[in-house]
Amino acid sequence: MTFSGNNNKLIKEWIRTLQKSLTIETENKFINTLGRERYFNDYLHESLKKLDNLNLSDEYLRIFYEFSKKYSEYNKLDENQRKRLIIDTRKNLYKLGKTQEIESSNIISNKVFLNKADSSLSFDSDISLIKNVGKVYKNKLNELGIFHIKDLINYFPRTYLDYTNRVKIINLKPDNLYTCIANVKRFYIHKSKKNSNLSIMNIVVYDETSSIKVTKFFLGRRFRSYSFFTSQKSLYTAGTKLAISGKVKLTEYGKTFVDPQIEILKDNNDNYNFSGKILPLYSLGEALSNMSFIKLMKKVLIYAKQYPEILNKKQLDSLSLLSKGESLINIHFPPTQQALIESKKRLVFDELFLLQIKFLLRKRKTNKNVTSQQLPQKKSLLKEFLNNFPFELTKSQENVLNEIKKDLSNPVPMSRLLQGDVGSGKTIIAIASLLLVIEKNLQGAFMVPTEVLAEQHYKNLLKYLNPLLVSVELLTGNTPQKKRKEIFSNLNNGLVDILVGTHALFEDKVIFNALGMVVIDEQHRFGVTQRNRLLNKGDNTNLLSMTATPIPRTLALSIYGDLDVSQITELPPGRVPITTKIISEDNLTNLFKIVEDEINKGKQAYVILPLIEDSEKMNLSSAKKTFKYLSEEVFFNKKVGLLHGKLSSQEKNEVINSFLKNEINILVSTTVIEVGIDVPNATIMIIYNSDRFGLSQLHQLRGRVGRGSTKSFCYLVTSDKNGLENKRLCVLQKSNDGFYIAEKDLELRGPGQILGYRQSGLPDFVLDNLPNNKFLIDKAREEAIKIVSGDPDLKKNIVLRNILIDNSDNKFIHDFLN
Ligand code: ADP
Ligand code: MG
Repeated sequence: MTFSGNNNKLIKEWIRTLQKSLTIETENKFINTLGRERYFNDYLHESLKKLDNLNLSDEYLRIFYEFSKKYSEYNKLDENQRKRLIIDTRKNLYKLGKTQEIESSNIISNKVFLNKADSSLSFDSDISLIKNVGKVYKNKLNELGIFHIKDLINYFPRTYLDYTNRVKIINLKPDNLYTCIANVKRFYIHKSKKNSNLSIMNIVVYDETSSIKVTKFFLGRRFRSYSFFTSQKSLYTAGTKLAISGKVKLTEYGKTFVDPQIEILKDNNDNYNFSGKILPLYSLGEALSNMSFIKLMKKVLIYAKQYPEILNKKQLDSLSLLSKGESLINIHFPPTQQALIESKKRLVFDELFLLQIKFLLRKRKTNKNVTSQQLPQKKSLLKEFLNNFPFELTKSQENVLNEIKKDLSNPVPMSRLLQGDVGSGKTIIAIASLLLVIEKNLQGAFMVPTEVLAEQHYKNLLKYLNPLLVSVELLTGNTPQKKRKEIFSNLNNGLVDILVGTHALFEDKVIFNALGMVVIDEQHRFGVTQRNRLLNKGDNTNLLSMTATPIPRTLALSIYGDLDVSQITELPPGRVPITTKIISEDNLTNLFKIVEDEINKGKQAYVILPLIEDSEKMNLSSAKKTFKYLSEEVFFNKKVGLLHGKLSSQEKNEVINSFLKNEINILVSTTVIEVGIDVPNATIMIIYNSDRFGLSQLHQLRGRVGRGSTKSFCYLVTSDKNGLENKRLCVLQKSNDGFYIAEKDLELRGPGQILGYRQSGLPDFVLDNLPNNKFLIDKAREEAIKIVSGDPDLKKNIVLRNILIDNSDNKFIHDFLN
């Protein structure tokens, strides 16, 4: 239901008078004030049902009738109940008022032709309440994570097609996007002979400069019917004026618009939809069409203006940012490229700003509860451990360990990110740090992304820590029920010192007696949410996050906030750099000879594949098939093993153990071995379909070799003939430096691809826009510091506070703000 401008005024006046008397009654402390003619409650009772000429939606009619009834009983209510009732009434009046404002602003801003607001809907409404959204459509939207109108508005386009480039036919150049205004000259439509599902429409159009062919394809049986053909024919009669937007291609018939957007312009009305505009393209999978999504968006975008604004006018001006509402509208339907840039800027700012506020609150919280963990020391575990370790720590390792020691002697919990290239020896540092908290009678958790790696760490820990009487347990998704119970109980009463494991550690049943430190290995494989869940299992828990995939400083600051960063900058001595070669699939025979030689020298090889089994969809090599081929044909006289994610954990362990003991010469595997596996005797790494992996991932895979003192080789197998992908692979060939490779990866794929939402807590679109908006990170930080230092509990910044509580999965935010 919509309102006329006149009606709008009536409603506003009605709201204003009611709010006035509600204010007076509140000021009088709910005594049922006697007005000039009537008691407050009688007045409300009457006014709230006198709605006939207001033209309200059914929903609001119902709401206000209910209130009206309640006011007739007002005298029977106690003070608190009266207060509650008044607050509720005010809220609903306020909400109605808001929809009116939108309505009136809609009349002015019709740049993007938003639909008018429906007073029964709001920003928070369920999408099923939108007109014409049926059950089927609703389900499809739900699958995309869209449940409320606000989710829809926050579903940003993946990219855009810019049709603002309007030109005359004579000036059209191939391979560019254009909009043309032209008239129909001839029209044909026919069924494709080659494809029984396809119809093809051709229109010749002209303007005062020239003419051009326009081709459109219709896929689907229903587009082959007689009635469809005649309906199209009647649309495109000779002389009809069209706006055609799309790509011009050079075909055998000369320049042609191929599958453009076409809009029929009625009269001289330029009021068309997307021709000449910037068209948003959404990631919708196969279930939804972009156009229907756009139509839906136009229905709801008007509610973007209800989005709470966290910046005041002064801030907006000084930061030269758009208002939230405006930027939400523009991100979907940008009138110009500049407007798009501006709205991205605002939206990116908000995400960074909120994140920085969270960091600051966390820091404040941890500073507030300064309860130092000064318990009697067990003994010097660390010293003993280092004595037993067969190597000297590298200078770098020593420096990092000292930084950690310093952190731990400080009452504020440690939050440290340890970056160190593949093979630089991070595990030792992790063990050493855990021992430092165990010396204080606290417990440690060692979080690992895969079961295989968890097993490996577990064994290492047993080896080094059993002699020191430190108790270690392993918990994964496959730990048997009985063992699980035992672990939970021993963990709870403090008998377990270190718990190593996979995602199973997040489970609610995992309760520590006194968790002192969380170590996260390969932290880029985890999300911020997961990390926080584990930290929340203790008070003032220290955090050591480790990664071999470093990210540039500016990004680190924006996504990890106040995490301190340590780096291991050297590899242990005696390592020989790995030689990397790109080879074509046709060249495998030669490669197999090299492998054979190496095995005969007692060394081992990995062969990595992107898939476990062959798939119809993808023309890629699979582990199972390659295993069969290698074990039966090429290396039938050697021992070949197979490892992949579908094996049971017992099977996986057996394979890894045999490989570790050199009972397997060649391990054929998927990327389950990607992170952390440490078998120093392996010297050959072969990666099939290497162009399918990210650079950092390839670097990780390559890092499985070169761990001993023998020269190692990595072969990147590719079928890519034109060498385009090879450009990427060349980065690896040239460099063994994980930092450099990570920078390149970032450059080539963008931060969204690499960091992802899970890891960073930031939406992809923010990540992808960071490199162009580095200054925003500083601004967001500055602004956040201003807010938190002036208003540490966010008592004055209620809107901000509510948004934080709403969006936050962090216990500390809730604890802190509630
Ligand atoms: P990553 O940093 O990739 O996790 P690891 O911790 O797995 O590396 O260490 C790689 C290998 O280097 C292991 O075999 C480990 O025992 C060895 N290592 C670690 N520190 C040293 C050192 N200071 N001297 C010699 N070898 C070391
Ligand atoms: Mg490691």
